[in-house]
Amino acid sequence: MNFNDLSIFENLESEVRSYCRGFPAVFHKAKDHKLWDLDGNEYVDFFSGAGALNYGHNNEKMKQALIQYLTEDGITHSLDMASKAKAEFLQSFNDIILKPRNLDYKTMFPGPTGTNTVESALKLARKVTGRTNVISFTNGFHGMTIGALSVTGNAFKRQGAGIPLNHSVTMPYDAYNGDTKAQLDYVKQFIDDNGSGVDMPAAFILETVQGEGGLNAASNEWLQGIEKICRERGILLIIDDVQAGVGRTGTFFSFEPAGINPDIVCLSKSIGGYGLPLALTLIKPEYDIWAPGEHNGTFRGNNPAFVAATAALEYWKDDTLEKSVQEKSKKITNFLQDMTKKYPELRGSLKGRGFMQGIACDVEGLAEDVAEKAFEKGLIMETAGAEDEVFKLFPPITIDDAGLEDGLNRLEAAIEATVK
Ligand code: PMP
Repeated sequence: MNFNDLSIFENLESEVRSYCRGFPAVFHKAKDHKLWDLDGNEYVDFFSGAGALNYGHNNEKMKQALIQYLTEDGITHSLDMASKAKAEFLQSFNDIILKPRNLDYKTMFPGPTGTNTVESALKLARKVTGRTNVISFTNGFHGMTIGALSVTGNAFKRQGAGIPLNHSVTMPYDAYNGDTKAQLDYVKQFIDDNGSGVDMPAAFILETVQGEGGLNAASNEWLQGIEKICRERGILLIIDDVQAGVGRTGTFFSFEPAGINPDIVCLSKSIGGYGLPLALTLIKPEYDIWAPGEHNGTFRGNNPAFVAATAALEYWKDDTLEKSVQEKSKKITNFLQDMTKKYPELRGSLKGRGFMQGIACDVEGLAEDVAEKAFEKGLIMETAGAEDEVFKLFPPITIDDAGLEDGLNRLEAAIEATVK
């Protein structure tokens, strides 16, 4: 049987697939920042499984931990029973991540994916406050299930539900380089003024950098202002760090530079380390109010994912990785600045921060053309933003200098070929 044939996907797979169209190759092997298709073509990965592969593909440290675990018949599926792998993960997460950052959270496993942690956060915030409304922000993306979609600010994605999605109000996100104070005053007025018709919300939910929504990065001042608005009114602050977390912006949690202390934090994607499904909902202890069985599910915690996730936490025992991400981020920024100068045809502006940066092109379809050309040059990357106006650099955070340079060179070749 010839598996190197995209017609299998045309004939047998549902029409819902999307990345299959963006990257028309049949992938077979992957290591660190590289992938290979069945024809043996090599690709540099500036996509990182949409953020699930911050430590690259088949990361050697995690692979060895998994091999050992499976060789010893470690339990794979155990619902939410107590297991050694889960205990080790919880202890390591507390000791390596939470304690040094003075964060006090209970960890809950809401289900396998990002949308599960968002659903649990929305549900818990409503139970805690007894309120229904949730404030979300323009261009935010929080997942595809009904609750997560109801707080997602993307008209096309919302259409997937086919019905109006209630119980959430969308407000303008920061990062339109506007007047932060005026924006915050507007949010306050909107909530406090009965004339707005908006019910006092249970929670605000937001990303500090909007991964899907175009790499809009909120300022620290705006985040602090939003936190203050929440504190003054008993509204819960939910930070969705599913994409921006786990080192992507240069610190483990993306909100660290703002010095805020969210009530609930959503983590998934790279928390599993090896691309294995795992999601965490971090809850301030006073909001840990669910009785056993009020929120459960079959795949709440997957032991091989715990094993890989615990091995991944080793990277956070010192600041080597954080420093490296911060240094390399500057290289990415410099490179993107050069690109906007060298190729004015892009009509480009820089977006994002850390290892989630890109260029917004003020020419319709151009960012998508660059991403398509990049694929021809052996570089995997995607676009972001409501109009797909941003091409998005999303390499593994463990990429070495040579790998990063290789990817950037391929990207420049793609830009040149697109605009010339
Ligand atoms: N929140 C954010 C910020 C995301 O980027 C995503 C996925 N792109 C999700 C939630 C949903 O995660 P999942 O696709 O694993 O359900």
